[in-house]
Amino acid sequence: MKIIPKKSLGQNFLIDKNIIEKICNSGNLKKNDNVLEIGPGTGNLTESILQKKPKKFYIIEKDERLVKNLSERFKNKLIIINEDILNYDLKLLSDRDLIIFGNLPYNISSQILINLINYSSSKFSYKKLILMFQKEVADRILAEDNSKNYGRLSIFSSWKLNIKKIMDISPSSFFPKPKVMSSLLIFEPKINYIKFKNSKNLEHITNVFFNQRRKMIKKPLNILFKSSKEVIDELNLNINLRPQNLKKETFYKICLIYEKLIN
Ligand code: SAH
Repeated sequence: MKIIPKKSLGQNFLIDKNIIEKICNSGNLKKNDNVLEIGPGTGNLTESILQKKPKKFYIIEKDERLVKNLSERFKNKLIIINEDILNYDLKLLSDRDLIIFGNLPYNISSQILINLINYSSSKFSYKKLILMFQKEVADRILAEDNSKNYGRLSIFSSWKLNIKKIMDISPSSFFPKPKVMSSLLIFEPKINYIKFKNSKNLEHITNVFFNQRRKMIKKPLNILFKSSKEVIDELNLNINLRPQNLKKETFYKICLIYEKLIN
């Protein structure tokens, strides 16, 4: 059966064999590795991963039409979960140290990444994420301070993850062709990262700062803290700077102080 791609589900299927091979190899799969693929679509990357013989292989796909095809194509070689990744409780997999692949639906790619970062459970963990984004979003994830792409996504992703770009991928590697360039990123959890009481606090803080990215930081500090002077003194902040001039670590420190003061 021919499947007409749904725009609403961000369906741009990978068709370039070379690229698919490269994506699969970036996982550097070893015997006994367990794998999860988000949005397997028509299953081209899935096929490639399967050849590496993962121990357990889960795929989560929302589109029922594709799920039907995938289960015919792969029978019982993998575990097919017909769910929305944004609503699915990954703890149900009860697997640790997964390698997660995903040529993500671009309209929800940042949200998927944020959820994966927020997820912390003794029943579920990953050792590597190999994810495709539209290039513009990848640039924001990778950005450093003092650059125009720097913001919430850069600060939040780097909090727990080491991130590298594997390659940019042109629209012609997909069907249908997306209008934008794509980038493949690899993420590995940091062994040491700053522990917050609740990672939502870091999201909240960066939201407050970057909602007003052109304003000087005095303003967001006053919104966040009753007495911002203490924070300014403790971190020795120059209040004439703008949010994009602050290093990631400074935001983590601000979050620690924030968590101390709100209780
Ligand atoms: N990985 C495939 C397809 C990528 S397109 C390939 O490279 O060829 C994105 C895929 O994510 C589609 O199959 C789409 O149906 C699926 N998808 C979209 N939204 C989803 C969601 N919320 N949860 C799970 N899968 C989703």
